[in-house]
Amino acid sequence: MEYRKNDMVTLDIVDCGTNGEGIGKADGFTVFVKDAVIGDRVTAKIMKAKKNYGYGRLMEILTPSPDRAEPVCPSARQCGGCQLQALSYEKQLEFKADKVRGHLERIGGFANLPMEPIIGMKDPFHYRNKAQFPVGRNRDGKIVTGFYAGRTHSIIENRDCVLGVPQNREILDRVIDYMETYDISPYDEVTGKGLIRHIFTRYGYHTGEIMVCIVANGSRLPHQQELVKALREIPGMTSITLNINKNRNNVILGEKIQVLWGQEYITDKIGDISYQISPLSFYQVNPQQTWELYSKALEYADLHGEETVWDLYCGIGTISLFLAQKAKFVRGVEIVPAAIEDARRNARLNGIKNAEFYVGKAEEVLPDYYADYAARHPGENARADVIVVDPPRKGCDEILIDTIVEMQPDRVVYVSCDSATLARDLKYLCERGYQVKKVCPVDMFPMTVHVETIVLIQKKTS
Ligand code: SAH
Repeated sequence: MEYRKNDMVTLDIVDCGTNGEGIGKADGFTVFVKDAVIGDRVTAKIMKAKKNYGYGRLMEILTPSPDRAEPVCPSARQCGGCQLQALSYEKQLEFKADKVRGHLERIGGFANLPMEPIIGMKDPFHYRNKAQFPVGRNRDGKIVTGFYAGRTHSIIENRDCVLGVPQNREILDRVIDYMETYDISPYDEVTGKGLIRHIFTRYGYHTGEIMVCIVANGSRLPHQQELVKALREIPGMTSITLNINKNRNNVILGEKIQVLWGQEYITDKIGDISYQISPLSFYQVNPQQTWELYSKALEYADLHGEETVWDLYCGIGTISLFLAQKAKFVRGVEIVPAAIEDARRNARLNGIKNAEFYVGKAEEVLPDYYADYAARHPGENARADVIVVDPPRKGCDEILIDTIVEMQPDRVVYVSCDSATLARDLKYLCERGYQVKKVCPVDMFPMTVHVETIVLIQKKTS
């Protein structure tokens, strides 16, 4: 049956879309309903209709899902950050594990996969070590900070995000206080006028060190010393910086950093490895689950001290340094030069000498290395025992997988933030002499729809 705009439909919500919206079917017609959760029976009004699917507005919950949870955050519905707060955490985990399995089966063509239980968090709140709060004015002209409402740039006042660390509240209160006292204007995206754009914070989960970076449309802050004095009173404060961003675009951070007080970086640890993190460094946002993920990577890599390992898409070398503790030699590859500078500095900081880093595209660096090796060692091929890949959402290039296959590693450990491209790449690898040994989803981002997956792939023995 076809539906039109303004039709009312009654639906059982059976699935959850990529943005957390509930999905139900009415006579074969698929309807996406924001704020409905799996297990609800609802009525929805069709707002937009295509041939086989449409978008509905939630009108009434006829029977609430037994898996509904009361959102902890009062802004959960409007805010663009959390999509799943209305679903119990247990069900969130089930949904994510099902999503990974579904993609691997449908896109990868796998059956009877060796799935390990998803690794969730004991306390799925306050896990984020980084936050970026936009600053603006509300309709009454009052300075506000918080989050953008989903898909817009209007700011919802919220200084107590339940995903961030509790220290954020004190930081935001003090910065806004300073702005009010000295009449410092927030930046206005429409006119490009005003000074303070974002308040950026980072917290060293294992060190307790705090960083505050004020992102400003200018190169100096009036009454800077008063702001520094107020922020320094917060226990753990280690780094107060100014980031200068005069660009008229959506990118949060500019390129220039000025230290206002303390150091430019904070230090944090994952396991036994320390990392120095500046405002511009990439760093995993959920430190507890990162440790879980990297421990799994170490388990899957099965290192005994003699192995040569490649860590492709290595970022600031976090996985590389973690594995270097147990391997003979690790080579990391990353496209962003500043991240490689961080990787090298962090290797030195930890006295790690058996890791080397290359700047470039994984799909160019590895094939070039392979060809170069063959040219210098006639009759021999470059080998690796273990190759780790952790690509962005689009997954790996076929050229890269071809080279991986030529290098014949015993094990490939695939860390993925998009199970659809993961499934595609696993299929390609498995058609070329490899097999999937273990799959483990890891919940790096509770309350959101995202899920990370780690897979152990082995060379077929026969
Ligand atoms: N493994 C790291 C980061 C993974 S995020 C960690 O655990 O922290 C993916 C990384 O891949 C990003 O740092 C991104 O800059 C990098 N990247 C994106 N495309 C790339 C490419 N074609 N070749 C190499 N690195 C790439």
